[in-house]
Amino acid sequence: MAKPGTDQTMDKIVSLCKRKGFVFGSSEIYGGINSCWDFGPLGVELKRNIKDHWWRTMTHRRDDVEGLDAAILMHPKVWETSGHVAGFTDPLVDCKECKSRFRLDQLEESMCGSPAYKGRKASKCHAEGKFTEARQFNLMFKTFMGPVEDEANIVFLRPETAQGIYVNFLNVMQPMRRKVPFGIAQIGKAFRNEISPGNFIFRSREFEQMEMQFFIDPKDDLKWFEYWKEERLNWYLNLGIRREKMRFHQHGPGELAHYAKDAFDIEYEFPFGWKEFEGIHNRTDFDLSRHKEATGVDLTYFDEETRVRFVPYIIETSAGADRSTLVCLVDGYREEEVKGEMRVVIRLDPRIAPIKVAIFPLVNRDGMPETALKLDADLRRKFKTFYDDKGAVGRRYRRMDEVGTPYCVTIDSQTAEDQTVTIRDRDSMEQIRLPMDRLANWLDEKLA
Ligand code: ATP
Repeated sequence: MAKPGTDQTMDKIVSLCKRKGFVFGSSEIYGGINSCWDFGPLGVELKRNIKDHWWRTMTHRRDDVEGLDAAILMHPKVWETSGHVAGFTDPLVDCKECKSRFRLDQLEESMCGSPAYKGRKASKCHAEGKFTEARQFNLMFKTFMGPVEDEANIVFLRPETAQGIYVNFLNVMQPMRRKVPFGIAQIGKAFRNEISPGNFIFRSREFEQMEMQFFIDPKDDLKWFEYWKEERLNWYLNLGIRREKMRFHQHGPGELAHYAKDAFDIEYEFPFGWKEFEGIHNRTDFDLSRHKEATGVDLTYFDEETRVRFVPYIIETSAGADRSTLVCLVDGYREEEVKGEMRVVIRLDPRIAPIKVAIFPLVNRDGMPETALKLDADLRRKFKTFYDDKGAVGRRYRRMDEVGTPYCVTIDSQTAEDQTVTIRDRDSMEQIRLPMDRLANWLDEKLA
């Protein structure tokens, strides 16, 4: 069995995801399409639970953030103004020998481990002098709006959800009678024509972002930046992600995006190394100033109390729903020895687990399946359940451990006598007995 933290762990997670219906390659029966992924029955539940949890934390539970769902296709000028048409590029190099393409910065990092890839022999083929000069490659996907495929009809698939928020600043603030500081949150698809996608759902060409843009008085930027860094790290800690597996990485001068005054990534130690899965950025007044300039629409804010007019600064928290899903899977994945046998378990927080409770009749007779099916139907109205009557109970537990189900309920011979059931906890593997009619409330409390 592989130890967590090795590449084998990643292979095992990818294979488990496929086998158990979490994630599989898109259009697989046609041979697949590189770097696009389909979320299966358990994957869609997991990712949706993560998104719902994010949405509730970032909007419902706060009194200073509104939600939004902007269109993926936007006016093409938005992307000129934002700087994406001119600058959303990665440096691309080709290996002259095998024709493979690489992102220069990733090549440096992964193949040579040095800022200069020249002079290092990375592999037989990709060696010194075998690469073309780097050229800039724009990551935005283009398509055409309407029947005529010409330059005038080019539109872009959004590479980030953030711009949909900036252009709707007034549309949200005015009807909701918001005052700065306040935020706008959005979850949605984004598309990037990544040069070298990979590491499963870590880097794909179609993915989902969970972004929140917080509009503030420029003089308060340091305070809000620190506040959001802490809030976002705490969100993952609250989901049970191990602290020692996360760290902040501050962007140095060479990494800082053109719009940012300061930027921190939250990184996770994946089996393939420390990598970003969320960014917290101080975007200053760059975005609103640019859109104001380009459209002539006044995007300034007048503070009634201080009688000062300003273009709000923006503190952005930008998370990937797919990368967060991967963090939860990788962080929760364990191989544990139990009574001389290995069990695979994903220790997902019960709130995001795809299946909340599994229902088993101990044996398929003596009225146990009927009672179990009735209990399943009752619980199903509120929770995602799974009914299983195949094989020994121990095996059924293992199957549920592997997909992260926090609770398994068994109907046995005692149930007919006193209407109680056993509940087995995924992590401690301990069992308690509870009256059946208290089960829904018990689960409610556990999942609150
Ligand atoms: P990277 O350096 O890994 O390319 P980035 O700095 O370009 O990421 P941002 O533009 O800050 O990423 O995007 C915010 C978040 O969106 C990232 O932290 C990540 O979770 C997610 N994200 C970005 N690109 C991808 C991708 N190609 N596939 C999956 N998620 C992505």
